[in-house]
Amino acid sequence: MGRLVVVSNRVADPRKTAAGGLAVALADVLNATGGLWFGWSGKVVDATDEDEVHVQQAGPVKLLTVNLSQADHDAFYLGYSNGVLWPVFHYRLDLADFDAGYIGGYRRVNQLFARRLLPFLQPDDVIWVQDYHLIPLAAELRALGCRQRIGFFLHIPLPPPLILAAIPGHDWLVRALFAYDLVGFQSKADLNHFAGYVETEAHAQRVEDGRWRAFGRTVHAGAFPIGIDVEEFTALTNAPEAMEMYERMQKEYSRRKLLVGVDRLDYSKGLPQRMRAFRELLTRHPETRRSATLIQIASPSREDVGAYTDILHELEALCGSINGNFGELDWMPVRYMHRTVARARLPGLYRAARVALVTPLRDGMNLVAKEFLAAQDPADPGVLVLSRFAGAAEQLREALLVNPYDSEGTAAAILLALQMPLEERRTRHAAMMESLRRHDVHWWCDSFLAALGEARAEEKGPSWLRL
Ligand code: ADP
Repeated sequence: MGRLVVVSNRVADPRKTAAGGLAVALADVLNATGGLWFGWSGKVVDATDEDEVHVQQAGPVKLLTVNLSQADHDAFYLGYSNGVLWPVFHYRLDLADFDAGYIGGYRRVNQLFARRLLPFLQPDDVIWVQDYHLIPLAAELRALGCRQRIGFFLHIPLPPPLILAAIPGHDWLVRALFAYDLVGFQSKADLNHFAGYVETEAHAQRVEDGRWRAFGRTVHAGAFPIGIDVEEFTALTNAPEAMEMYERMQKEYSRRKLLVGVDRLDYSKGLPQRMRAFRELLTRHPETRRSATLIQIASPSREDVGAYTDILHELEALCGSINGNFGELDWMPVRYMHRTVARARLPGLYRAARVALVTPLRDGMNLVAKEFLAAQDPADPGVLVLSRFAGAAEQLREALLVNPYDSEGTAAAILLALQMPLEERRTRHAAMMESLRRHDVHWWCDSFLAALGEARAEEKGPSWLRL
């Protein structure tokens, strides 16, 4: 394989452990091929130095970053990416802000990325574009003459065709996907939505399994569920910082069973619904009062987008009312923290929990579910309560799968989780660990790149119709 070029909205330094599993997996291939990683620096500046590319050497890997102007940041990042694509792709048409000005900024930044990246490319490079911020990037690169193999992976869900069709310009977006050689999704459900959309809206033909023809072009598409680096996470779990956290939690909660929720504070995570289910549990099963505590960590996220402050207030009000109604002098049912937990300590918290509540309303994959499993003691593991609407539910069939909109059903599953006998916990955990190991983040990376290598090259040079 030629040199790998990764393009994503943000760039992580793969040498730093805080970068997480994805960066670690990509770093393996980037290091091996002496690759490039290109993206936004995270800096918003005056338009004047917008054209510069900052180059930083991280071992054999080059990190290339560009700054954004305030106007581009507002329209591309806050506006179109997080005000239109994020909510709609998570089925939340009600939260989308279809301001007509955003799409121009989205396109402008994709063009800027293409123009800035182009001079760094070599003929046999393999380009891998990540996520919803950069859907039209390949089309913009092709318009500039780029003929290299380009793959795209969507980390978030793809909604059903009629939801996707509500986006003004949806046809433009999907057409842009046909400039790639391979498009990867998190789950079979997402792939089916893609097939449904292109076949009904774009009259695409399924040429063979996993290959569609439309707009005079063909594209390969497949499901490549992302995993975690199980070995890295196990090592993190056994390291002193996580052990210390685990022991502190054990001591603090020795008389109670601990339930844990760890999320970004995002409306897709179903946090208010989770609190309602927990309230339902305490109401219907008084024996769980005093014996169970829910620790909910919600890390601050995208606070400059309006819908995020609404969810923050809703969650605070619910936690307050549960504690007000059920709390005792020596027991608070919910411990809610609006902060990030250091990655090194997180496995200790997971391991101390008897139950993890991972109940998004919609999620591309959900890595917290996988991290929770990897951090457990196989001899005495905790139980995963998982939303059927998380991509991870396609793989983790031995979790207690719930519908997060159904607070009674979710409360019943939480009760089952709290009471599950050791033998059953072990069996379920072992089965899920096998799946996690088989489909870890290295498998994800290798299988996507292998499929991209095989995706039949087709002339996608400058003749590719301009968007
Ligand atoms: P998303 O990408 O939508 O945030 P995922 O569950 O797929 O959801 O990935 C979240 C990642 O961020 C995981 O690696 C998880 O450990 C980390 N994370 C999420 N919430 C927190 C938090 N409150 N504190 C620390 N890390 C968090």
